[in-house]
Amino acid sequence: MIYHALDLDRALRSELWQALSNIAGRYREDVNDFPVERTDTDGSVESAVSGFDFATPINPIEALRRVESAMRLHQTHTAHSRYFGLFNPNPTPMGIAGEALAGIFNPQLAAWSHSPFAVQMERRLVREIGMQFDQRLTTGTFTSGGAEANVTAMVCAFVRLFPNFSTLGIRGLGSQPIAYVSAAAHHSFVKAARTVGLGTRFLRVVPCDSSHAMDTLALTSMIEEDERKGFTPFFVVATAGATATGVIEPIEEIGKIASAHGAWLHVDAAWGGFAALIPELRAHLQGLERADSVTFDPHKMLSVPMGAGMFLTADSESLEKAFSVVADYMPAQESAGDRVDPFTHSMQWSRRFIGLKVLLSLAVAGWDGYAQVLRRQVEVGHYLRSQVQATGFSVVNDTPFPVVCGVPGIAGVSVGEIVRRIVATGNAWVSHAALPDGAPVVRACVTNYLTTEADVDALRVELQRAMVP
Ligand SMILES: *Cc1c(COP(=O)(O)O)cnc(C)c1O
Repeated sequence: MIYHALDLDRALRSELWQALSNIAGRYREDVNDFPVERTDTDGSVESAVSGFDFATPINPIEALRRVESAMRLHQTHTAHSRYFGLFNPNPTPMGIAGEALAGIFNPQLAAWSHSPFAVQMERRLVREIGMQFDQRLTTGTFTSGGAEANVTAMVCAFVRLFPNFSTLGIRGLGSQPIAYVSAAAHHSFVKAARTVGLGTRFLRVVPCDSSHAMDTLALTSMIEEDERKGFTPFFVVATAGATATGVIEPIEEIGKIASAHGAWLHVDAAWGGFAALIPELRAHLQGLERADSVTFDPHKMLSVPMGAGMFLTADSESLEKAFSVVADYMPAQESAGDRVDPFTHSMQWSRRFIGLKVLLSLAVAGWDGYAQVLRRQVEVGHYLRSQVQATGFSVVNDTPFPVVCGVPGIAGVSVGEIVRRIVATGNAWVSHAALPDGAPVVRACVTNYLTTEADVDALRVELQRAMVP
């Protein structure tokens, strides 16, 4: 056989796929036997990294084996059923298969003509998922995650509100543009303000009220004050399911204020958007009919592997104005029907088939299957809330979603110390968060669809132990 550095012969390939499948099987079987938190405090990460010597090529199976053992050791196991952490799910088997298939066929989603099935499938998913939110939200694009979707929203708002934005940039605008988010909003808007060139000084952070949601009276007065100064409010964000607390801001009211002042309303539902898929929870997202755009992350509550966000919008014209360019080396745009080249509607150019993991998970679960699983997670969340309370914590967030923020009822051990102690046991994982007013809380979230009441009971034991001075 002729040696080839990149290709593998048939026998080795088949061994490789088998090894991969074994790794997937093993991890799924034994992830709950690991401590949830990493135990590698001894510098072994560095040796696992430097252990790869690129001067001396190794056998493919050996390469996989090394990565497997490093990943098993050197990460917080977000797929563990007692990971009550950030919005990182246990990835669905169909989602994992989707990742593998996207690699196998490696479709290029820049141009329609290179991969029409993938492009049209993503389009259909955008339309169908968008319509769960509101029937006007039928266009958009898959993104790497919520952060990219939020930047995309800000660019679209600029393009619609300021016709000169694309050519002259912000310095060329007649007046200073101002964006508004609440103190509960995700910090990706800070990055968006930097990336787009708005500047964080012009990203107003509206204070929250006692329910930890945007104080809409404050929003109105901040907008009016900016208008008096001759500034132009152009972008208002309502967060539907705040990252720390799960609190849903009053979309309807915020939307009315935004439209009264001619601004774009963006709803950041990166996590909480799952409520749109459950009829009895959907009412909590009232006001979506006012949204110009929505961020939703399938890699959170839809439990697909990392790297799947969505930007959904009712204004495909602005999305196209924001990103369409003519490049003579790209395949000619197909003009027939409604064929769209995704590179004209996205910040990305070369793009992988992000929607595939969503397609496969949804095709196998169905809308009802997803709703059933999500309902169950919400139910376990209610149990979690009751148990956190029963342990002597006060629950300080009010949300229908499965995230609980607690402060210890008795003084003695700080929030930070409680979290540190629980995480150190390896038996459960919770995080330390801050309310919009800065008050520290212990935060526990049901993020794994396999988490049950028994896992919550185990967390309760750890909470009780951690509170002892
Ligand atoms: C997670 C989250 C984001 C950021 O999304 P990524 O997918 O991590 O980029 C934005 N907004 C909210 C409300 C989030 O919860």
